[in-house]
Amino acid sequence: MTKKVKVAIVSLTACEGCQIVLLDLGKKFFDFLKKVELVDFGLIEETPFPKGKLGIAFVEGNPITKEDLRVLKKIRKQAKILVVLGNCAALGGIPEMKNYQGKEKTIRYIYKTLKNIVNPEIKEVDNFVKVDFTLPGCPITNTEFLKYAKDLIKGKIPKIPQKPVCSECPFWGKETCFLRKKEPCLGPITLAGCQAVCAKNNFSCYGCRGPLKNIKPQGFLKTLEKMRSKEEIEDDLEIFGLKDMIKI
Ligand code: SF4
Ligand code: SF4
Ligand code: SF4
Repeated sequence: MTKKVKVAIVSLTACEGCQIVLLDLGKKFFDFLKKVELVDFGLIEETPFPKGKLGIAFVEGNPITKEDLRVLKKIRKQAKILVVLGNCAALGGIPEMKNYQGKEKTIRYIYKTLKNIVNPEIKEVDNFVKVDFTLPGCPITNTEFLKYAKDLIKGKIPKIPQKPVCSECPFWGKETCFLRKKEPCLGPITLAGCQAVCAKNNFSCYGCRGPLKNIKPQGFLKTLEKMRSKEEIEDDLEIFGLKDMIKI
């Protein structure tokens, strides 16, 4: 009998939403677990840090604390494939707003008097270790996790098709499209795969899955500038850590 691939799902500093959506899969997630040997998943059970080689390490969250960095570097050494889960790990995410707004100012806003809070710059996982594959989103799309996990279990690195969110949006080409209504939406420059869940629920896309590769967004940003001031566009790009990737 062939040995099952050892899998660890670890969380750095995070809201753990990307792990929770895996549990939302219910039976399908437990069917996935039958195909692998799960050696760590802190959301289900606190277990000692896994020893020895791993097939896949799924990593959620930001490497912020010294302990996060220790865990990240250790798991990288152990894992054949390291996959980052979600916008925080991949693009800095919501915590990265602190960098844009000034980390000292932000921490004083939250902790008015408390001193000595660890307050490093927020940096994505790939600033510290090699990342083999990224599952984007805030949170990740759990069905996409199952889809790409099939290849990852076989030791293959999948490729996510470079299509925009608009390609999955029911409002594409219709009067109900946010852009046609002169309301901002980052769908045209954002990587598809979430089934345009925000637009379907009457929210515009703020790009949590990150920009498409090899695009030049300047033309699109000029369109946005007809609807929003430069400052407002910058604020929009801050939400999911895009401001350092897309220069206005
Ligand atoms: S990407 Fe979103 S859901 Fe996932 S850990 Fe970060 S904030 Fe939470
Ligand atoms: S994602 Fe946004 S811009 Fe794209 S079609 Fe849908 S509403 Fe329009
Ligand atoms: S529509 Fe945009 S903001 Fe919403 S989940 Fe998809 S990529 Fe993220």
